[in-house]
Amino acid sequence: MLNQKTAIVTGGGRGIGRAIVLEFVRQGADVAVIFASNQTAADETVSEAKQLRPEAVVRCYRCDVADMAETKTTVGQILEDFTAVDILVNNAGISRDGLLMQITEQDFDQVVDINLKGAFNMIKQLYQPFLRQRKGRIINISSVAGIAGNAGQANYAAAKAGLIGLSKTVAKELASRGITCNAIAPGFIETDMTEVLSEKIKTAALAEIPLKRMGQAGEVAQLAAYLASDAAAYITGQVIRIDGGLFM
Ligand code: NDP
Repeated sequence: MLNQKTAIVTGGGRGIGRAIVLEFVRQGADVAVIFASNQTAADETVSEAKQLRPEAVVRCYRCDVADMAETKTTVGQILEDFTAVDILVNNAGISRDGLLMQITEQDFDQVVDINLKGAFNMIKQLYQPFLRQRKGRIINISSVAGIAGNAGQANYAAAKAGLIGLSKTVAKELASRGITCNAIAPGFIETDMTEVLSEKIKTAALAEIPLKRMGQAGEVAQLAAYLASDAAAYITGQVIRIDGGLFM
């Protein structure tokens, strides 16, 4: 359970991020939801969360996680609004798929800036507060593409692999203060991000997944909630796959 904990979830307006917000609230947490541009989706997440637990404090904040200055201002505001933060989930991410030949410099930079540098920026803002309070949980949403690579996702796989290196390093730097940092590596999860994939790609993916279905955002959220809980105090620096057995 996450009673009396406060979490920040980046990209919490939609998809996996929204499911994490709702699960955290259901388990007793207050949550600051960071979104990039889709205010309507973020507002919906907040009102769904309030329906789940009316006494929960859930607020949304517009912030481009790729922008260091914006993350500083936003985290400063969240710390004022909520007093303290216990859990950071770096979930915000985008993909700009294509074979390496087709990926432009801009596609590469954008994907790395949001998926990887975005997590760095957020961790940097919470590093001192977590050190001072001698507790904290950091959960970075990577991908199986960051472990195994994936044709057509050179930019995304590089960013997600970088996130794994970042997670392990942060885990080592902060372990002595009781702060944990882990990565979750989902496989194919049903969200807007995978909705745009062609039927051909989806069918090929399903053929490779032993459990023969795509994952649900709520299943990733359950794992994130466990890693955020006191029960997971002895787990750090790990990359936990949730992929229906795609990679064993
Ligand atoms: P969605 O596309 O459904 O949602 C992405 C979220 O990230 C949105 O809330 C979006 O905000 C937010 N976001 C995008 N750019 C920024 C930014 N610059 N600053 C702040 N927030 C931003 O994605 P998913 O839910 O599918 O994916 C969530 C995470 O899980 C991503 O990191 C993704 O790479 C990872 N993942 C997903 C898998 C899948 O199969 N779906 C598999 C493996 C990993 P807004 O709503 O305002 O646009």
